[in-house]
Amino acid sequence: MEIKVTPAATLKEKPDSSTLVFGKAMTDHMFIADYNEGQGWHDARIVPYAPLQIDPAAKVLHYGEEIFEGLKAYRTADGSIQLFRPRDNIDRMNKSAQRLCLPQIPEELALAGITKLVEVEQDWVPREKDTSLYIRPFMIGLDAALGVHSSKHVQYIVVVCPVGAYYPEGLNPVKIFVEEQDVRAVKGGMGMAKTGGNYAASLRAGDLAEKAGYSQVLWLDGVHRKYIEEVGSMNVMFKIAGKILTPDLNGSVLDGITRRSCIQLLKDWGYEVEERRISASELFEAAENGTLEEAWGTGTAAVVSPIGELAMGSKKVTVSNNQIGEITQKLYDELTGIQWGRVADPHGWIMKL
Ligand SMILES: *Cc1c(COP(=O)(O)O)cnc(C)c1O
Repeated sequence: MEIKVTPAATLKEKPDSSTLVFGKAMTDHMFIADYNEGQGWHDARIVPYAPLQIDPAAKVLHYGEEIFEGLKAYRTADGSIQLFRPRDNIDRMNKSAQRLCLPQIPEELALAGITKLVEVEQDWVPREKDTSLYIRPFMIGLDAALGVHSSKHVQYIVVVCPVGAYYPEGLNPVKIFVEEQDVRAVKGGMGMAKTGGNYAASLRAGDLAEKAGYSQVLWLDGVHRKYIEEVGSMNVMFKIAGKILTPDLNGSVLDGITRRSCIQLLKDWGYEVEERRISASELFEAAENGTLEEAWGTGTAAVVSPIGELAMGSKKVTVSNNQIGEITQKLYDELTGIQWGRVADPHGWIMKL
């Protein structure tokens, strides 16, 4: 499909890349493609970045008919630009689409929307260490009627913005609070889909944790309220007695691309990785008997995020002396090394622009 480009009449001033705030400095253009039942995808276009005109009765505004993705474009030392596993994001978007009755988007169209937009905005891909261009593709249901049905008119949109390191102060361990009231998702719900509704469900616990001095919550499963699922909006991994443990993809855990990449690297390095149910009590027992060696979250935005303290009710434990663990650091160095083109990419994860 041809992509029509309408350049912006005036270009914005680019922000100072040493003081970027995550997700704020949107660029000059955006990609849009329309879908109508019977007609399929059409009118792929790059247009000046601007507010969308949406009918107030549009389904997305009332019933959360929305899915999204998150990935980054990286500037390498030779000035070229590359993406990390972008086809995995599109594949996941189509899985999310299935869950929310949104249409499947052809991989080549979804990818072209990303690559063409990054090409148009290439001067926005920052050059400073640890900076990148964050890419946010999303799909919304636009039928203007309040009946509860899936939409026949849908848009796939991509917006991008330069971002700095997720933690500007560096890779410091964060404090995590085990959430025992709210749940993020349940089996049979939308946990495996990357959709706004799961984030709406997570806001209250996140706000309360922040007020109590914690940076994220550790989510438990919605059925037994016992088993660990994710940390904030990241997947979570533990090193217990030399082995790596991570919750299995049980339907309410999101299939993270960083998670998948970490599991591969850990196996390459000879670690045993177990994907299985892990109860919060197993975790706290391991912490108390000294076998919990490391804990970290994984996700595109932060890459890996070391966990230094865990609290559940009145119990509090420290992980690896509140220092970044050896494996956590090694995963961060290797993944960011591949992403910015500083180390070899043996698994073919990089797509050059
Ligand atoms: C996006 C996301 C992740 C991380 O996925 P990546 O592909 O590694 O960025 C983990 N959990 C949730 C709930 C997410 O939305």
